[in-house]
Amino acid sequence: MKNLSVKEKLLFEKSVSGSGAFAEEPSKLNGDKLGKRIPASYLRKEDIGLPEISERDLVQHYTHLAHRTFSVDANFYPLGSCTMKYNPKINEDIASMEGFACLHPHQSTEDIQGALKVLYHLERKLSFICGMDHFSLQPAAGAHGEQTALMIAKHYFQKRGEKRNKIVLPDSSHGTNPASAALCGFDVVTIASTKDGEVDLEMLAKECDENIAVFMLTNPNTLGLFERQILKICDVVHRTGGLTYCDGANLNALMGISRPGDMGFDMMHVNTHKTLSTPHGGGGPGAGPVGVKSHLAEFLPVPRVVQEWEKHQTWYRWSFDFPNSIGSVKTFWGNFGILLRAAVYIDSLGLKGLQNCSETAILNANYLRKKLEDTFTIPHNRPCMHEFVMTPDKEKSPGKTMDIAKRLLDFGIHAPTVYFPLIVKDAIMIEPTETESKQTMDEFVDRLKDIAKEARTNPELLEQAPTKTYRSRMDEVQAARNPVLQWIPNRI
Ligand SMILES: *Cc1c(COP(=O)(O)O)cnc(C)c1O
Repeated sequence: MKNLSVKEKLLFEKSVSGSGAFAEEPSKLNGDKLGKRIPASYLRKEDIGLPEISERDLVQHYTHLAHRTFSVDANFYPLGSCTMKYNPKINEDIASMEGFACLHPHQSTEDIQGALKVLYHLERKLSFICGMDHFSLQPAAGAHGEQTALMIAKHYFQKRGEKRNKIVLPDSSHGTNPASAALCGFDVVTIASTKDGEVDLEMLAKECDENIAVFMLTNPNTLGLFERQILKICDVVHRTGGLTYCDGANLNALMGISRPGDMGFDMMHVNTHKTLSTPHGGGGPGAGPVGVKSHLAEFLPVPRVVQEWEKHQTWYRWSFDFPNSIGSVKTFWGNFGILLRAAVYIDSLGLKGLQNCSETAILNANYLRKKLEDTFTIPHNRPCMHEFVMTPDKEKSPGKTMDIAKRLLDFGIHAPTVYFPLIVKDAIMIEPTETESKQTMDEFVDRLKDIAKEARTNPELLEQAPTKTYRSRMDEVQAARNPVLQWIPNRI
């Protein structure tokens, strides 16, 4: 958090006419050739007015900005539901190998055998880890995966000549679930959770009629609790001909331990950018592969990678030969660079390593839960999976959830997820992930206890937090509704 208070000028403000980098700019090297190929009417006549800056100042500028960015590499990031785990650098090394990084999706099949092999085997491994029969790697994010799966469900019922238009989900579900359902033209029915924070089987049974298409469920659910009735839940839905969908955005508690496919789910998605350590945040690319059981495989998006034998050699190619497919949901191969990182993560750990991740993620979350249960209120205080939900305690840790979250920033700790899931008022949702050490977690506990004490002795301080960051409380609504994306001198 060091450089947070340094005011960084814009490159435009730092510009000094005539300054430049050591290497010659590419436009000068290629300019003539390019200029000849592009019709004159498209060429710029006036100078573009880019800042001119020396290489040293340029590097300094971006390094300052990079230091100001809060990152998993630099700080603790216990963001529940989002699984902000450390991204091993071997993922980056392999993704930046020339043979991968410089591929073009239009290259010939002979040229891209290595990349196709990675995708094919990633699909097989995900199927094994999740207990599914097939995966599509196309969807670009979790929500996109949900939408793809619901399109598959639509085609499945259409082919069977059934008119089912209802998606049922619990009130603890992630907001993308009802949104994806609505986007696909389904009617959404939300059912209340039990006081234990799990699916209410009776309520679910009432909604299971000839009109139910899909029941969507996150397991472990968004309270971090494993749905103990999961076999019965899937059975109730299946008995009326409906499909079950597992929102597997975070498989961090399940890998190598239990499989959604074995629990009875027909379809699911995985967020590689949560479970499988590919970077996320800031709107960067992700991937939300969708897995299905064999009765739904014919509907998966095309193209799919197929493996063949040719001249005693394994051969991979794209195939569009799936007539009942829902079609493509993403251009080319999906987010290949992200999928590659996920494949490296799986391969470098192996199934035993993945199991170790899940077990440690569960251990870490329970360690924090036990350490914090005396200071905060934990509404569902029983062994959790990879995350848990707590709230401020009127006596021991008074103060608003938002104020506590903001105060953590002053200690260089990212705030946990707040006010989610919606079924716990003032929720603070904590997910340490497996990559955090005991020391980091102890420090987090100490800071939270300090904050709880402050809330009792000096409540004003909490309301003003954060005080040590570059910016304090922002008007988040204004920023979203009325973003200022233009450089206005003296305004920034
Ligand atoms: C993150 C998350 C999603 C959405 O994933 P995106 O990649 O952000 O679209 C869906 N469900 C759950 C439970 C999640 O945690």
